[in-house]
Amino acid sequence: MSDSINDTFDQLDNLVIEPCLEIHEFEESSPKASFNGLLKDAPRANTSVLNALSQQLIYQINLIVPNALVSFDDLDVELGDAAYPFVPPAAKLGLKKAIEKRGRKLVVNSAYRTLAQQMLLFNAKKMGENPNPVAAPGKSNHQSGLALDIDDRDGWLPFLQGTGWEPLAGDPPHIDYRGQGARDLRKETILAFQQLWNKNHPNEKIGEDGGWGPKTESALNRSPATGFAIAPWDNKPRILRLSRPLMEGSDIRKLQEKLQAGGFAISVADGVFGSGTDKAVKEFQKQKNLTADGLVGSKTLELMA
Ligand SMILES: [Zn+2]
Repeated sequence: MSDSINDTFDQLDNLVIEPCLEIHEFEESSPKASFNGLLKDAPRANTSVLNALSQQLIYQINLIVPNALVSFDDLDVELGDAAYPFVPPAAKLGLKKAIEKRGRKLVVNSAYRTLAQQMLLFNAKKMGENPNPVAAPGKSNHQSGLALDIDDRDGWLPFLQGTGWEPLAGDPPHIDYRGQGARDLRKETILAFQQLWNKNHPNEKIGEDGGWGPKTESALNRSPATGFAIAPWDNKPRILRLSRPLMEGSDIRKLQEKLQAGGFAISVADGVFGSGTDKAVKEFQKQKNLTADGLVGSKTLELMA
């Protein structure tokens, strides 16, 4: 063992083909909020127990590559419990066109899978709880930001033609975006975690090399499922809104506490932006003569302070 803080790259000796269908079957009932503990201790039946940490990781990727991943949850889509509907803007446009052309809801079972989610699946595999192949975190094509698993793929293919979305042979639900602006984000997926970890652990820094190795794995397993104390949006607040999956984090909790202090009906400040929070935000906006769109940006926050 060297004393180097850098992890070893093992990009080539660890190629695993994940059958996407089996991964979905592994994901069962969905919990309501993130597991209150470390990733390594979290229940492994559904990766949505890592919701808050996952959202931090996605946000951090966009700090590394601005606008790399945008949500398509505003399109006519049905989403799996643990599916993060994030793709590059051009890929979203392709989906929008296909959905409009077909005039039908697109069912998406899996989309961007965060490094934390892949770690949980990988741990389950190691514990013998999942018989199917699982790629190491950062190695799955679902960490590229360019992959979706959809229902009725063959029915969708004619409508996706010319949009940059293409089927993956031998993997029936899987499509990849290979059009304009396609950029594989697997390295950034690991780097985002390393940066976030280091920001929160100045005395136990790991290498920021975008490579997967034992130090990164150990740190990820010791990360809080509810997200790090220093969040990536602390300096540049995210727009808070009712979204799929539900936004979760300390910023949401602060918003809820402000609404409560202002006399708006929020039963519990649980840090999850659900329909109750959405309703309270819209009431607040109406009261302040703002557009009651439920989007909490700097303007709404300022008036709340
Ligand atoms: Zn897939």
